Amino acid sequence: MGAPGGIFFLVAGPSGAGKTTLLKRLLEAEARLEKDISVTTRAPRPGEADGVAYRFWDRARFERELAAGAFLEHAVVFGRDFYGTLRAQVEAKLDAGIDVVKDIDVQGVAQVRKVWPYPRTVAIFVTPPTPAELERRLKDRGTEDAATVARRLATARAEVARIGEYEYLVRNDTVERAVADLQAIRRAEHLRRERDERAFRANWEPAAQGGT
Ligand code: 5GP
Repeated sequence: MGAPGGIFFLVAGPSGAGKTTLLKRLLEAEARLEKDISVTTRAPRPGEADGVAYRFWDRARFERELAAGAFLEHAVVFGRDFYGTLRAQVEAKLDAGIDVVKDIDVQGVAQVRKVWPYPRTVAIFVTPPTPAELERRLKDRGTEDAATVARRLATARAEVARIGEYEYLVRNDTVERAVADLQAIRRAEHLRRERDERAFRANWEPAAQGGT
């Protein structure tokens, strides 16, 4: 272990957990951390420009690139649209020593970790403080009908069943505190022994490395 290079932070959790806001604030606060831009087949929402939050591709292009092996992972989210992570764009940043963070669904996390297990990737599960608070946030959005809210709550419970796959759990109580938690995770992860062990030993045990 101890591969040098950036860390890929995968941030998952129920829709309504506040991931978008948290990642936006985190990216504003941190240096040498960049967001991965997902590819999706869903239509852009009003105000969503191509290449900012997402690259909007049609199904044919998505399938072509999938067949060509361009995706590190992909998933159908909410039973509708395809979402995926382009391997090359993440790799380029990690190789340059830049950390990458992305908002991803639980299926995506499971797939990425088969290819790139910890410590190259660090999985963080974000939830609202309570299920009742999640329900309130989903209803307050006012954009989803009752059936959609019910479906998202059921999905949230199914997602929580998989928290054993994550290194960290963050409760998004207040944005400030949750962002501070994410910053603390990043900082601590860079201090993990397995990331730095080789360089550390080379410095302190030069003889063991074949030095004089
Ligand atoms: P939305 O379409 O509302 O922006 O996002 C829907 C869901 O897609 C979010 O839960 C988000 O985590 C997930 N998602 C976004 N990008 C990706 C991706 O590249 N791969 C996977 N597996 N899920 C993604």
